[in-house]
Amino acid sequence: MFVDCSFSITLHNIHRIQKDIFERETLQQPPYYIHGEKNELSQFAVCPACDNPIQIIGLYKSIKDGRECYGKHHLNSIRGLAEYNQQAYDYCPYSQNRINVNENSRKDQLTDYERRIYTLMREQFDRVIYVLSKAIDIKITASAARRMLETYINGRGWLYSWATLNNLPYVLGHLTWSKTLYGQLIFRDSPLHKAIIEKCPSAELTPHSYYSDYDIISKKENGNYIDLNYCIIDHKRSIVNDQNEETMQLLVTNGRGNHAELIFKKRLEIDEAYFLNLINLPEERAQRNESLINIAAELMPALT
Ligand SMILES: [Zn+2]
Repeated sequence: MFVDCSFSITLHNIHRIQKDIFERETLQQPPYYIHGEKNELSQFAVCPACDNPIQIIGLYKSIKDGRECYGKHHLNSIRGLAEYNQQAYDYCPYSQNRINVNENSRKDQLTDYERRIYTLMREQFDRVIYVLSKAIDIKITASAARRMLETYINGRGWLYSWATLNNLPYVLGHLTWSKTLYGQLIFRDSPLHKAIIEKCPSAELTPHSYYSDYDIISKKENGNYIDLNYCIIDHKRSIVNDQNEETMQLLVTNGRGNHAELIFKKRLEIDEAYFLNLINLPEERAQRNESLINIAAELMPALT
């Protein structure tokens, strides 16, 4: 059961399931309002996490325990709305299945759902990098973004078991292992910036000439050797109050192996709606980064 829904499988916005929003978005028309077997009118939408059809319960009839209306998976296709996809359901955070996964877990089949993830990465790579950069207070440079995308492609990240359209920016960070901070840009007012100054005195943080809110990391001339890296680990998800709570941990370290010192740790909370709502901004408000879009187009052939 869940409290959010979307109304299309293609690059959809995510909405709260509420009567006024539901009526406004669907105009009470098919395929959202359908007469069922007993000629009862039922309402349908799309699961916010796996693109399967969902049935809306309690939109017009009050529910016994007094709860608000909610969605539940509908295990059949709804023509014109969404095809039922068993694999996507099996790995959906809202399904009953609880399959433990790690960074190396991949789904068996490339279905339409994973193809949509691939295409989303290809067409929205600049926004993927934007959302991830913002979450971790590290402005990822174009060359670093390219290396990350190469690793993601080698590991066929679109098949990662817990990959969804919603968590794409974070999954990119998660599946691309340890990344150097050398030459990267750190947001000046962030706790990460403060932690580097306090715990890594050999790091030089120089204001960036173009991004005035950021400092670029290098080594002080007479400072000790530094080896600052970050990784995004510990992907977790659980349903709390009918909503998917999904988190990862950002770790920043100095040094290698057993000698690595933890400089900074931050819990990353993945907002189910933010990324998809961002890419649905009207064109006049959208700011695109052409060089990142071109990197993705170069590295990822369009699916036919
Ligand atoms: Zn689902």
